Amino acid sequence: MAWNKEGLRFGCTQCGKCCTGTPGYVWVNKREIAEMATFLKISPEEFVKKYTREVDGHLALLEDAKNYDCVFLKDGKTCTLYGSRPTQCRTYPWWPENVKSKEAWEEEGKRCEGINHPDAPLISFEEIKKGLNQNRE
Ligand code: SF4
Ligand code: SF4
Repeated sequence: MAWNKEGLRFGCTQCGKCCTGTPGYVWVNKREIAEMATFLKISPEEFVKKYTREVDGHLALLEDAKNYDCVFLKDGKTCTLYGSRPTQCRTYPWWPENVKSKEAWEEEGKRCEGINHPDAPLISFEEIKKGLNQNRE
């Protein structure tokens, strides 16, 4: 990340595109499942059964087979469990693969309009590091 110690421009426009459109995996661990299940007032077991799939021994949220909408996306834009969403969603776009180089950041900007958006605030290097560190928790 030393390529940009000045910070990076990002501001989510709530377009919802990162929750749909292409096949992908939102990985969830036990702690996240418990949190989401509590939010939905169901048991973790029920959550796993209703909302997840197993891929290579790990659990990921279900997505629509036709449009790849995440199972918790509503009207193509709104996350219905926003306050309890998984770390992977919370920390986007501060993932190591997105910030490893200027090229990677700009490439991700083709998928996310909040990256380098003209109205986006400058996010400090410290804030970005916090997001990166949360991915490891
Ligand atoms: S694609 Fe980017 S701008 Fe759109 S909702 Fe996701 S993070 Fe926000
Ligand atoms: S849990 Fe919410 S934020 Fe994460 S991919 Fe699904 S709809 Fe988007």
